[in-house]
Amino acid sequence: MKVSRRDFLRGLGAGALGGALASSPLTSALAGPAFVKGLSHRTQKVVVVQFGGATRFSELFGDPSYRYTPFLRELVKRGMMYRELWNRGLTHHVAGTSNILTGNWIMLEDFSYKPPPAPTIFEAFRRQKDAPKTSTWLIPQGANFAPINRSSSPDYGDRFAAANVWGDLAANPVLREVLYELEKQPEQDVRKLVEAQLNRYVKEVNRDPRTRRLYQERVDRAVEMVESLDPELRRFLLSLDRSKVRQAAGRDRANVALAIEAMQKFAPEILHVNLAAPDVAHQGYWSLYVRAIRDTDENLRLIWEAIQNLPQYQGKTTLLVLPECGRNLDWVANGFQHHSLGDEGTRHCGMLIVGPETRPGVVIEREVQHIDVAPTIAHLLGIELPTAKGKVLAEYL
Ligand SMILES: [Zn+2]
Repeated sequence: MKVSRRDFLRGLGAGALGGALASSPLTSALAGPAFVKGLSHRTQKVVVVQFGGATRFSELFGDPSYRYTPFLRELVKRGMMYRELWNRGLTHHVAGTSNILTGNWIMLEDFSYKPPPAPTIFEAFRRQKDAPKTSTWLIPQGANFAPINRSSSPDYGDRFAAANVWGDLAANPVLREVLYELEKQPEQDVRKLVEAQLNRYVKEVNRDPRTRRLYQERVDRAVEMVESLDPELRRFLLSLDRSKVRQAAGRDRANVALAIEAMQKFAPEILHVNLAAPDVAHQGYWSLYVRAIRDTDENLRLIWEAIQNLPQYQGKTTLLVLPECGRNLDWVANGFQHHSLGDEGTRHCGMLIVGPETRPGVVIEREVQHIDVAPTIAHLLGIELPTAKGKVLAEYL
C-alpha cells in the first residue's frame, strides 16, 4: 500500500481518535500535522536493530522477494517502511552509527576510538529523565564502536553514557578470565591480570620487538575495555546464559544474546543493537555476504520475539530496523565487497518502523535521512534533542 503523506496523516488522526470521533465532522478539521503531533504515544521503549555491517538496499528492503530475509518479509507487513532513507554522510560503520544516534553527520573514521562531538540520544534521555545508566544500552559491533555510547560534548559525556557491552567481551577467554578474577577480588590490578592471562597463550613475546609492540597494544586495549566496565556490567557479562548464545545465528550471536538478556534484566527504554555479520563481504565472497544477511534476519526474529514475549516491551515498543550504510553498486569498484566510495549503493538504506503507532504495510516514498532517526526517537520518548540536525518523521507520529 502506498499513501501520500497527507492521506496518511488524515488516516492516522482518525484511527487514533477511535470509532465515534473518527466519523464526526471534527475529524477532517483536526487531522492536520499539528494535531497529530500532539497525540500522546503509546511507545515507551525504542529498540533499534542496526541491520548492519553495511547491507545494500538491493539485498534488503529493495528486494521484492526478500529472498535473503524471510522474517523481514513478514515484519514489513506489520510496519511502515521508509523506502527512501539515505545516508548523506560518511558511509562507514562508526560514522553511520553515530549519525543514527546523534542526528548529526559525524565525521568519525572507523577505528578512531573516539566519541562523537554531538550528544547522543542516550545522553539526552538519561539527562532529561534523570535515568540510570542501564536505561539506555548500546550493544556495539566491537571495541572500536564502544566510545560512541556517549559524546565528547562538555554538557553530556561519560556521566550520561549508555551501558555498553559486546560479544567479544563475553566470548574472549582472556577477557572472561580477567572478569572472573575481578569478580572474586575487585581490587586486583587489571593490567597484571590481563598479562597473566595473555601469557598463558603467548610465551615467546620478548624475543622480537615487533611482536612485543603488538603484545603491548593488545594488553593496553584489553585493560581499557575491562576498566570501561563498571562492576554491574562485568557481572552482567559473566551471567550471560550460554544457551541463548547458541540459539542466535552467526557472528553476531553473542551480541544478540546480550541484547535479549539486557532486555530481561534491565528493560532499557532505548536499546541499540548493532549487528555486523554482513560486513564479512569485505572478504569478497558473495555466498558469505548473503549467508550473513540470512543470519541477521534470523537474529532480528529473535529480538522481535523477545519484544513480544516480555511484558515490559510487549505492545509498547517501537522497533526500528535499518543499516548504517549500504555497499558499492556492482558496477562501482569491487561492487558489494566494500562501501566507502559514496555511490548510491552505499547511501540508499531504507528503514522499517514497527510499533504501537504504526499502520501496517504503509510505504513512505519521500527522501528521509539517517539524521532524522534520533529526533524521531526523542519525540516518541518525550524528550528534546535540540542539537540534532534532522527532522522528526511526521508521517509516523
Ligand atoms: Zn565494512
